Amino acid sequence: MNLVLFGPPGAGKGTQAKRLEEAYGIKQLSTGDMLRAEAAEGTAVGQRADALMKEGKLVPDDLIVEIVGDRLIREAKRKGFILDGFPRTVPQAEALDGLLARKGLALDHVVSIEVDDEAMVERITGRFTCARCGAGYHDTFQRPKVDGVCDVCGSTEFKRRSDDNEATVRQRLAAYHDETEPVLRHYEHQGLVRKVDGMAAIDDVTAQLEAVVG
Ligand code: ADP
Ligand code: ADP
Ligand code: ZN
Repeated sequence: MNLVLFGPPGAGKGTQAKRLEEAYGIKQLSTGDMLRAEAAEGTAVGQRADALMKEGKLVPDDLIVEIVGDRLIREAKRKGFILDGFPRTVPQAEALDGLLARKGLALDHVVSIEVDDEAMVERITGRFTCARCGAGYHDTFQRPKVDGVCDVCGSTEFKRRSDDNEATVRQRLAAYHDETEPVLRHYEHQGLVRKVDGMAAIDDVTAQLEAVVG
């Protein structure tokens, strides 16, 4: 099964992708995570991406397609993938369609997580993750069961993304409306779009997603 999780920053794509990955054994592919890994390694690509990410601007299409292309084909030939944060522009969607078609592969669903913009600022500015295992949390909506201790691995080290501040979030939301929303219409024309209510509680969104993917 090949899925795209679609929605603005803070919609819950990463949170839900990790749950689907566990439930269905298909691989989460987050272009944001890939770019942050490149930046941490200090590669040429990573350095270029880092400056844009800090400003809340999109990274060029050719660079993104280059880093995600081979991996998504590899996963599609196994059990499938969940794309999280890609495609983010119409040219990226067209590149993805072409990559898959050339291998005789296709998307099964593009799931749009529908949310209110204003709520996304609070979601993003309250977001943090476990520094050891990457489990996702929120200051208000998803606190660890024991304060300061990761539910999954017991680590007491957490981190926050430097781009998860209010000014950058607003820039990212603007980029979403200008450049990413048209991707939904691209897939509506292909009859692939399914919608879920992303303002519901996290478990409820998971249940809606499971109903869509079957
Ligand atoms: P995205 O990957 O779409 O940017 P995340 O999955 O990282 O979004 O979620 C953003 C933040 O909001 C995280 O801190 C997460 O714990 C929290 N969150 C995710 N889904 C919900 C929800 N349905 N209700 C409340 N908070 C949520
Ligand atoms: P979020 O889901 O919270 O917006 P991501 O981790 O998906 O965050 O993306 C963080 C940043 O990485 C984006 O603001 C953008 O600069 C860059 N990025 C990630 N994926 C893409 C993509 N498909 N196209 C262009 N830029 C991307
Ligand atoms: Zn952990």
